[in-house]
Amino acid sequence: MPDAVSLIHVKRDNTRPLTDEEIHWLFAAYARGEVADEQMAALLMAIYFNGLDGPELRAWTGEMIASGERLDLAGLARPAVDKHSTGGVGDKVSLVLAPLVASCGAAVPMLSGRGLGHTGGTLDKLEAIPGWRASLSNSELGTALSTVGAVIAAAGSGLAPADGRLYALRDVTGTVESIPLIASSIMSKKIAEGVTALVLDVKTGAGAFMARREDALQLARTMVTLGEEHGVRTRALITRMDAPLGRAVGNALEVEEALAALSGDGPADLMEVTYALAGHMLELAGLDGDPAAAIASGRALDTFKQMIKAQGGDPEASLPQAAHRQGALQAPSDGWVTRLDARAVGVAAWRLGAGRARKEDSVSYTAGVRCLAKPGDHVRAGDPVVELYVDDPARFGPAIAALSEALTIASEPPPVAPLIVDQVGD
Ligand code: URA
Repeated sequence: MPDAVSLIHVKRDNTRPLTDEEIHWLFAAYARGEVADEQMAALLMAIYFNGLDGPELRAWTGEMIASGERLDLAGLARPAVDKHSTGGVGDKVSLVLAPLVASCGAAVPMLSGRGLGHTGGTLDKLEAIPGWRASLSNSELGTALSTVGAVIAAAGSGLAPADGRLYALRDVTGTVESIPLIASSIMSKKIAEGVTALVLDVKTGAGAFMARREDALQLARTMVTLGEEHGVRTRALITRMDAPLGRAVGNALEVEEALAALSGDGPADLMEVTYALAGHMLELAGLDGDPAAAIASGRALDTFKQMIKAQGGDPEASLPQAAHRQGALQAPSDGWVTRLDARAVGVAAWRLGAGRARKEDSVSYTAGVRCLAKPGDHVRAGDPVVELYVDDPARFGPAIAALSEALTIASEPPPVAPLIVDQVGD
């Protein structure tokens, strides 16, 4: 019979891999309260340093999935496919992609999270729309999927509940940044969601969780393997997150930009990532729809409006507006913007109130940053490069401080570099 202290020793000293039986016992005993949070935290730290090998990770993820319910989407008439992003700044792709791919014939059950730290959360963005609600019962979810085809909702507490407990422990014990722990956390929720195909957008660069491309690739490979092992066709794109995606960062500002994108007027970088992900989702789902045509015809926008209405929102209502706005980050000289640091812009938006420091905090829907110039744009000395939006003007100072090192101007334009830098999975 295993015990928690022996398992911690095994992992701490890296003497051998944990067996399937030991991992099964661990999760069951943790759920029963026989393994204490401090013991689980010690084991997580040992995993942070010594990792999990393939069979351990498969068993670990399997136990996280088995800790809760698994949605059954087999009865849907359309193939179910989802996308998950590891999180970035100005990343409103989900708002455009879910209705877009649904308007091409797929069912998209996009169960999402809220923002934490400098990256935004899809649910916080949609809540800027008057009346829209994130929580749906399983039966409401099923109805929305079979009628509209797309739903973006909060992942219920019934899906992989062990992840909720482990994530809270990791958050306060410095053990979030571990590839096997991130991969099992994300994939357990996605596999429990019941899709047969999944496309991952693994961000790399200044504004991403995985700043280094090698780490992003390793995370992508780990998640693709887990997906395939659990019968989900999985593909990952590695995409650059050095500068914010699009020009808007902040909840209502991003909804506005997503609506522009669905109306055929989206910024080029946002559309590049959205169309690439849409193409892979449709291919994995076995559909041959044309995403650009779905936007041009207005079908994707129509699906977005239906999706918002199905969750109580009014897609025609005006979005809330900030009481104050101010230009900031003046260009020190004439020249080309070669760098606008995504993380600094994300932190500025967060300090303006767009994000939260703790899970229980509320967010401002109106606060945020609009990028007036981005890498590749020419500016004149003294031009503001960003515009800040806020309700409480006392927040301008801390936001401006976050931007102090965010900008590089050069006498030559930067080379044009693709946003999609790699692909993992067949
Ligand atoms: N997102 C998750 O759901 N889990 C992690 O561990 C990191 C990001």
